[in-house]
Amino acid sequence: MSLLEVLFGRRFPFKFVYHEEYWMLNTGKHVFPVRKYRLIHERLAAMGARKENFLQPEPVSFEDLQFVHSPKYLRKLQTGSLAKDELQALELPFSPELISFARLSVGGTIMAAERALIDGLCVHIGGGFHHAFADHGEGFCLLNDAAVAVEKLQREGRIGRVMIVDCDVHQGNGTAAIFEKREDVFTFSIHQMDIYPSEKMTGSLDVGLWSGDGDGVYLDAIREYFPKLYRDFRPDLVFYLAGADPLAGDQLGGLTVTKAGLLTRDRIVLEGALRMKIPIVILLAGGYAHDPAETTDVHVNTIRTAAVMKRRAARLLGQNGAAFAEQSRFRS
Ligand SMILES: [Zn+2]
Repeated sequence: MSLLEVLFGRRFPFKFVYHEEYWMLNTGKHVFPVRKYRLIHERLAAMGARKENFLQPEPVSFEDLQFVHSPKYLRKLQTGSLAKDELQALELPFSPELISFARLSVGGTIMAAERALIDGLCVHIGGGFHHAFADHGEGFCLLNDAAVAVEKLQREGRIGRVMIVDCDVHQGNGTAAIFEKREDVFTFSIHQMDIYPSEKMTGSLDVGLWSGDGDGVYLDAIREYFPKLYRDFRPDLVFYLAGADPLAGDQLGGLTVTKAGLLTRDRIVLEGALRMKIPIVILLAGGYAHDPAETTDVHVNTIRTAAVMKRRAARLLGQNGAAFAEQSRFRS
């Protein structure tokens, strides 16, 4: 192994799922920043990630989408016959390209989940469209990627119990509704109460915070539930929606959490799962800072934290001999 391989291997002990088409979606001057996908990809490349670190997803099939979404809704998407109020609820310009983007995003989350079961952790540079319900889309979300991935992997007998840890500033209303009353899927959401969605759904555990709560309240709540929830529920797989929109100054949120606060959040959520050897899929979800570079910083911090946490857990658990040897070499 060359020195460069050792260095890069050290930096990213997992794969990224990413597709160039993520940032090609034309949303005009819309607040939804598809540009962040490209910026993150560039930042990772600058940090040493290479082509083989990235896996390219395929669009999900309409058959797989039916695990979650109603045939009626899927038909409307395919025929472009959403009603006016349905188009308004989406809050994004509807187009065939938007459907392609959404299908690719679902395919990406499925791929990342499959990979997490192999490597212990995988990062989807995309996904987290948690406002999509079984029979309609809203809030920039056409199709619920995490929900489809859960159903697909469960039906294939690859996982049983699943936990969704949704730390986007907006409640994961679609996800909560899809898995309502399901005992094998635990939906956790920590979100701001006085913003979209106006009507909150009931998940397995909802933590409602308020505008201006900041790092103290936010992190106290995270610490209260993690890693305890992992111990109590014992999931086979965790989906972590590492939203960047609790960040202070976000255009669509007001929680005023700092970058350092979000980094601590990431550490707590990731460390708990990794130490218990629970595979974890990271999805980006939202982030609407005025400057997309700010949103990108938060997402890249999550990825950096994941790399550090994964190595540390491997060392503690002694489950990865190569990583252990590598760490020892660098310490000496
Ligand atoms: Zn959000």
